[in-house]
Amino acid sequence: MDTNDSLFERARQSIPGGVNSPVRAFGSVGGAPRFMKKAQGPYMWDEDGKRYIDYIGSWGPMILGHNNPEVIRAVHEAVDMGLTFGCATQREILIAEEIKKLIPSIEEVRLVSSGTEAGMSAIRLARGYTGRNKIIKFEGCYHGHSDSLLVKAGSGMLTFGNPSSAGVPAGVTEHTLVLEYNNPEQLKEVFEQYGDDIACVIVEAVAGNMNMVPGKPEFIHAMRELCTQYGALLIVDEVMTGFRVALQGAQSLYGVTPDITMFGKVIGGGMPVAAFGGRRDVMEKIAPCGPVYQAGTLSGNPVAVACGLKTLQLIQEPGFYERLSQQTKKLVEGLTAAAKEAGVAFCAQSVGGMFGLYFLDKCPEGFNDVMKSDTKRFNVFFHSMLDQGVYFAPSVFEAGFVSIAHTDEVIEETIKAAKVAFAKVAAM
Ligand code: PMP
Repeated sequence: MDTNDSLFERARQSIPGGVNSPVRAFGSVGGAPRFMKKAQGPYMWDEDGKRYIDYIGSWGPMILGHNNPEVIRAVHEAVDMGLTFGCATQREILIAEEIKKLIPSIEEVRLVSSGTEAGMSAIRLARGYTGRNKIIKFEGCYHGHSDSLLVKAGSGMLTFGNPSSAGVPAGVTEHTLVLEYNNPEQLKEVFEQYGDDIACVIVEAVAGNMNMVPGKPEFIHAMRELCTQYGALLIVDEVMTGFRVALQGAQSLYGVTPDITMFGKVIGGGMPVAAFGGRRDVMEKIAPCGPVYQAGTLSGNPVAVACGLKTLQLIQEPGFYERLSQQTKKLVEGLTAAAKEAGVAFCAQSVGGMFGLYFLDKCPEGFNDVMKSDTKRFNVFFHSMLDQGVYFAPSVFEAGFVSIAHTDEVIEETIKAAKVAFAKVAAM
């Protein structure tokens, strides 16, 4: 019978690294990645039949927990009507209207199939709209793997220690300015120097690809003001934070109005839906209305949209985000107390249903702080938790996610396991 180990061995014969996305490999923590077979609520089961409490939630989408019956029913109904038409469908209007209703900065929205596409398209649109070349991004922020954005990105890029990727010509990234996260003074200086040629600033307002680092309000507000002053567009990447840190996203927490917002993960509810949207005068520069080209064979796929639409409807139930935030808080507080009891330098924090765990004395404020994380201690903690059936992201550079299906019992079981794991760390 196949086991995780034998599957990994086999996978490596036909799939690069045995995985179809790098963070799935246990590159920094070591060992064979787990091959998952099924999932339900807060749990996943691997091919060995072992059960895990899941704090990855497919890297964000599974906010309702796995296999929510209403979502599954909506998907089945859509499947029965046909898998894809490559034509306009009514459901695409419904999801666009739902997004507009929830996010006031969105006047028009275009669906794509991944966060990468949303980021790539948003940048092209900002350049097309402004007629300018330069873009500003921040160290440790990840906006997908398109060429011009793959400079000092977070996520798998940090894990593997690649500040940039091979195969990206210098000419493509020469217009990408990479600045320090949470440093409004530096941003202002760069605008003073290059303001006339800056098309946009792109940011994760709560960064989730260098572990989790919330933007300081003064930093986020400075970029809004500078963009307005210099005629650049502000792109807030809510692929991870959208419908995750709050129903109206990170922009609602900061009271900031982006010109363009990117979505992904939760808006697909576990299927490939992402989007970018914003001001009507900007969005109408896209084909077929305007000269900025963007397209997709499976964009707005009817089955994926059915899944996303039902998810967006269910998260609007009264009290959903209060409960999600409360459960996530319970988790980080429980973990922090367990670490303290064991005498391990550790800190944790959450925003809505998203959290960060750090083997550091205090929570990080930017990329350089995150880079100081004690990876050896994290790896011992990670493997002890995994052995005990708790699945955290296999890297110190990833945020974690709680779903509405994570009950008190599930969180208590996690904290009980963490006591064992922290004791192991303390004994190192
Ligand atoms: N932006 C952010 C903030 C992300 O977290 C991610 C994925 N983790 C992306 C963009 C890219 O999305 P995708 O993996 O769907 O291409």
